Amino acid sequence: MTTLDESVQDLFTQVVARNPGEAEFHQAVHEVFDTLGPVLAKHPHYADAGILTRLCEPERQIIFRVPWVDDAGDVQINRGFRVEFNSALGPYKGGLRFHPSVYLGVIKFLGFEQIFKNALTGLPIGGGKGGADFDPKGRSDAEIMRFCQSFMTELYRHIGEHTDIPAGDIGVGGREIGYLFGQYKRITNRYESGVLTGKGLSWGGSQVRTEATGYGTVFFVREMLAAGGQTLDGKRVVVSGSGNVALFAIEKVQQLGGHVVACSDSSGFVVDENGIDLELMKEIKLVERGRIADYVTRRGSGTQFVESGSIWSVPTDIAIPSATQNELNAADAEMLIRNGCRIVAEGANMPTTPDAVRALNEASVGFAPGKAANAGGVATSALEMQQNASRDSWSFDYTEQRLADIMRGIHDSCLSTADEYGMPGNYVVGANISAFTQVADAMLALGVV
Ligand code: NDP
Repeated sequence: MTTLDESVQDLFTQVVARNPGEAEFHQAVHEVFDTLGPVLAKHPHYADAGILTRLCEPERQIIFRVPWVDDAGDVQINRGFRVEFNSALGPYKGGLRFHPSVYLGVIKFLGFEQIFKNALTGLPIGGGKGGADFDPKGRSDAEIMRFCQSFMTELYRHIGEHTDIPAGDIGVGGREIGYLFGQYKRITNRYESGVLTGKGLSWGGSQVRTEATGYGTVFFVREMLAAGGQTLDGKRVVVSGSGNVALFAIEKVQQLGGHVVACSDSSGFVVDENGIDLELMKEIKLVERGRIADYVTRRGSGTQFVESGSIWSVPTDIAIPSATQNELNAADAEMLIRNGCRIVAEGANMPTTPDAVRALNEASVGFAPGKAANAGGVATSALEMQQNASRDSWSFDYTEQRLADIMRGIHDSCLSTADEYGMPGNYVVGANISAFTQVADAMLALGVV
């Protein structure tokens, strides 16, 4: 990692020492600290009040055993997490990730990012994140249900519509939110819709929540293009992943006239020069829960499955990494630059490594960090909470318009903050400083708590 401004280097060293072995968390903190020098110089009262030290220490971290019985009758034990990071702006809000790679460092990186992302939405939500090192791949529906029920049997005592509101993330979609909500309802004997977001439409969910992260990322890209007098029409786009974020990013790109030529899962990537057939991809991924190679078998000529190699070698105008952290490295960035890519927008959380971000910046490729570009998911979760609180449900068109307006607002505040701090066009600086000042001001107002 590069050396930081001296105003924050000591503090970063302390964060690393206090949180050993949590590389992803260190990376997320470093990325934010790297951009805060100008705001700390202009407003020294933030440093004087110890805001940064407090921001890096979660308000509460819960780690728990998740025992469950698999279909063979064997006992399985997983580890569950909920990190309630910061509630200065509102109740903790952030998704749950079920993936074997989950450990405290991953949840803390995601929770830390979430504080800033949620602030950018302008909605009253604090930051948190949770999950488990559970691997849902290959598990039956009944096993998924038993796992979710056991997970919620501990989690329920820590959450609530005014306290902490989880949602989905990798490995947690509508099915899992259903099982989690069912168990919460059973244990508490309360139909407290606002305790989880990402619910089904007939039981308290919001229109557009399923689509929101992917759609929102593409709305952000639309704003970036518009700032340069361009549109998505006719642009080549590569989207990594083929989960919730990726599928709906592809959908919105296609609706806006773009041409998505590649997407992936953890087994490899597919290239389809005729444009990804989204209906087929959704059938394979959402209904059959199959592997991406099935797409090539079914779609036939003109398509290709690449098992090893990088999806970022596929020439494109716009790249939307939407799978997982650190999936686009410096070598990938160089390939994108060489092939003429002009925009990278993070649908996933921290998919681009710091040296890749540096390379993109040096080549003047527009780069939208996840905390800004993928904030549409949590923003629509907050809209779901609004509907639950008022026992109302809004139409698809109205909710989508609210999402588009929020994404425009985030885009514009990133640009105007970057301008204010002398870094025009730098979305990373704009997002970090704009979010930091909102959270820091609220923390100052609330005193040392
Ligand atoms: P899903 O579980 O729906 O999809 C994840 C996709 O990424 C799958 O295609 C998966 O492939 C692939 N993937 C996961 N891990 C790896 C890996 N180690 N290497 C390569 N591919 C991998 O998750 P989401 O779409 O919900 O989340 C994707 C990203 O977006 C995450 O970073 C998440 O934090 C972020 N995000 C999600 C939001 C949401 O609303 N869902 C909101 C904001 C951010 P496979 O099936 O083979 O594992």
